[in-house]
Amino acid sequence: MEATQHAPAFAHAAGPAALPCLRCAEPFLRQAHLDLHLGRAHLHALGEAERDAFARALAEEEAWLAAFRRRMRAALGMMPAVFVLLVSAGLLLALDLGLWWVFLLTPGTLSFGALMAYAEWQREDA
Ligand SMILES: [Zn+2]
Repeated sequence: MEATQHAPAFAHAAGPAALPCLRCAEPFLRQAHLDLHLGRAHLHALGEAERDAFARALAEEEAWLAAFRRRMRAALGMMPAVFVLLVSAGLLLALDLGLWWVFLLTPGTLSFGALMAYAEWQREDA
């Protein structure tokens, strides 16, 4: 399963299609969620195959979280540029200078925002 196909971890299900935990009967919507539950709640009682499934599910979850953090850092890297544009538009409106002056700031500000988003996207240490 690709990391982007994960549903949220809280997506438990109680319907007939749910996968119940064989040890505590808690239902799960996806096999990966059941594997994570088994490892987190019943680790001491797992067999070799269940431990392997837990390790795989844990690695998939970590990959999904890393991709999510990367996207959020890129979006947050863009925020100062958006803030500058909004403050500029607010000042231009407040000073009654006309909103079209904002177009003078837009290319440079958006380029700066794109550069910051790219830098955050490329950063590996976070
Ligand atoms: Zn259980």
